[in-house]
Amino acid sequence: MKYGINSDFNYSDNIISFSTSSEINRGIDLENLALNDYYLLLKVTYSNSDIKYYSLANRSEYGNITYYTITKNHSNHKIDISFGQYQNIPYMSINVTQANELPEDVYDIAIDPGHGGSDAGATSGDYTEANLVLDCALTLKSKLEDLGLKVFLSRDETSPSDENTAYTMYDENGRINILNGSHAKLLISLHLNSEIYNKDEGGVEVYAPNDCNLDFASLLAKNIVEKGNTYYSELSSFKKLDRSLCS
Ligand SMILES: [Zn+2]
Repeated sequence: MKYGINSDFNYSDNIISFSTSSEINRGIDLENLALNDYYLLLKVTYSNSDIKYYSLANRSEYGNITYYTITKNHSNHKIDISFGQYQNIPYMSINVTQANELPEDVYDIAIDPGHGGSDAGATSGDYTEANLVLDCALTLKSKLEDLGLKVFLSRDETSPSDENTAYTMYDENGRINILNGSHAKLLISLHLNSEIYNKDEGGVEVYAPNDCNLDFASLLAKNIVEKGNTYYSELSSFKKLDRSLCS
């Protein structure tokens, strides 16, 4: 099986340094990798047409990784990405096995109803953003569970005053850590804006990291607009985020 990934290399002091591109995440689609054991080798074709294969050593601070594919038809694959040694030769392997169910602390999708606790978010009369997005989150959770997906909520009706999800989101028990602990493949954070002066200035906004595959975010936005018979926000100037502008 052969995957092509754009890469650059430098040669100096008898050492070749490779760097991969952002395409690395498109190189091997773990979600669709068939059950099997794989060993990753780098194929190098020299200018004299010689071909050599090189194994991969882990020089990073990270150890082995276990990944679970998203639930489809009540089934998952467990994928172990590991680094080993065979007769002093390091290697990287990917082992794909059938998993009967996800471990307790692994979810398919995490939903984060914005705000909560003493943070009401946007308000209008008796309505608060915190309560409205919680309603949306509970509905979305049950619809996704009907499809067989395992869904995590960062807060629910049993923790309406939980300050962990409000202002202390970066604390040990804060929103960020709670969500990271779900090991979910997808995180959907729900927010509603309020605009009291000009009601036409609404519309759907979807924010996603600029350096990830935006296909899902685009599909989500398109479906919300089409199926909800609504429209995109006018804030198109924010459609692309330049990370170099973030500090
Ligand atoms: Zn909000």
